[in-house]
Amino acid sequence: MKKLEEYVRSIPDFPEEGIIFRDITSVLQDKDGLRLAIDQMQETLNGVDFDIVLGPESRGFIFGVPIAYNLNKAFVPVRKKGKLPCETVEMEYDLEYGTATIEIHKDAIKPGQKVVIIDDLIATGGTIEAITKLVKQLGGEVVKIVFLMELEGLKGREKLAGYDVRSIISYP
Ligand code: IMP
Repeated sequence: MKKLEEYVRSIPDFPEEGIIFRDITSVLQDKDGLRLAIDQMQETLNGVDFDIVLGPESRGFIFGVPIAYNLNKAFVPVRKKGKLPCETVEMEYDLEYGTATIEIHKDAIKPGQKVVIIDDLIATGGTIEAITKLVKQLGGEVVKIVFLMELEGLKGREKLAGYDVRSIISYP
């Protein structure tokens, strides 16, 4: 069987010149790739005590839901502003150009609940930093953050100092 990293397709100059895009569709579209990715992310949670998997739209859903289901935990979606129907808390964060706002339902995390955040990739870390602030605001505790891939050169981890961060595949 191939190694997990061999299933990731790297596309030069996408979405713009100079960027190497790490594509997960090539992982997902192979049954062995999909299994390796879910299994290896899930293994990082062995022995971790938690209540909720939280995953940002949309690739955080792909990896977060099967892991939550396998470990018999709840899943809470983090969505872009304006998509959730009930009362929300929101956080704005900086993108390379401009800003974005994400939301979680206010009743999705109860004070004291332990949260694991799962996403496909950490680049600048801005998205996950904003999510950690939302969890804190609702009284939850982030006990672990798991990524399939990390772009180390963008130093996203520095924004997540103090948190237990794991990534399965690292690119310099
Ligand atoms: P951050 O907030 O800068 O860490 O951005 C993280 C998000 O950007 C991830 O959830 C990805 O969806 C997306 N992203 C950035 N670069 C890549 C890439 O090379 N491949 C896939 N997604 C990427």
